[in-house]
Amino acid sequence: MTLKGKTAVVTGSNSGIGLGVARELAKAGADVVLNSFTDTAEDHKLAADMSAEFGVTVRYIKADMSKPDECRALIEQAESCDILVNNAGIQFVKGIDEFPTEKWDAIIAINLSSAFHTTAAALPKMRAAGWGRIVNIASAHGLTASPFKSAYVAAKHGVVGLTKVTALETAQEPITCNAICPGYVLTPLVEAQIPDTMEKYNMSREDVIKNVMLERQPSKEFATVEELGGTAVFLCSDAAKQITGTTISVDGGWTAL
Ligand code: NAD
Repeated sequence: MTLKGKTAVVTGSNSGIGLGVARELAKAGADVVLNSFTDTAEDHKLAADMSAEFGVTVRYIKADMSKPDECRALIEQAESCDILVNNAGIQFVKGIDEFPTEKWDAIIAINLSSAFHTTAAALPKMRAAGWGRIVNIASAHGLTASPFKSAYVAAKHGVVGLTKVTALETAQEPITCNAICPGYVLTPLVEAQIPDTMEKYNMSREDVIKNVMLERQPSKEFATVEELGGTAVFLCSDAAKQITGTTISVDGGWTAL
């Protein structure tokens, strides 16, 4: 599988799943645009290191995915956008009656609306190039719900809906749009929570992972960022060209329950 000659824009990709997906796309030969809302020396070093490791062009472009204009500017600045991975996302947990309006607005803007704006800006480029792949990173929470995550669950269900509409609007073109729905993924953010939780419940690392974090994940294993990246690379392959408008769960059986 080679993605040589293709340019992939991955939103929210200076850590976690976005970075893992960007690395797998670069490994498959794609040039990559990394993104987040920061603009630090580390962000640019990440791009330079990835470029040296995989022998592809990697650029870092700052753009705040909570702002419609910056979402669209990211795609314009990227010049080419053959592969768009909408990954940027945040979380906030609270009951609906106490959920702060600004948190609701931020989650809807970053986790859902940004994908609309980047897709709108990317489609003309994909049409001009005669090829395109849109991969939206939704969640098991795009298909199921949990209490206290109203904005996140609403946004992720929205992403799944947007995925279907985008697929229908491009169904007769060489463009596909799908959503990956991860269960619990071992990102640095999640890894960092393990020691505190071990201390809080006086549990072993294994018990915290199996009985606290992975309570709803039947495999009792995290998905990895490399596995998510591999799924994205598959969705960009020729074998996946009739796969559009659907969801692929990478959740250890969560949504089979
Ligand atoms: P993370 O916090 O490691 O990564 C989030 C990324 O989004 C970071 O690069 C961050 O800089 C970026 N980001 C946040 N706000 C932004 C903004 N305003 N503009 C631009 N970039 C912004 O988290 P993660 O676990 O890697 O999550 C990535 C995606 O995967 C999210 O959409 C999340 O909902 C989804 N997801 C994660 C899990 C999991 O278990 N980790 C499970 C299912 C879905």
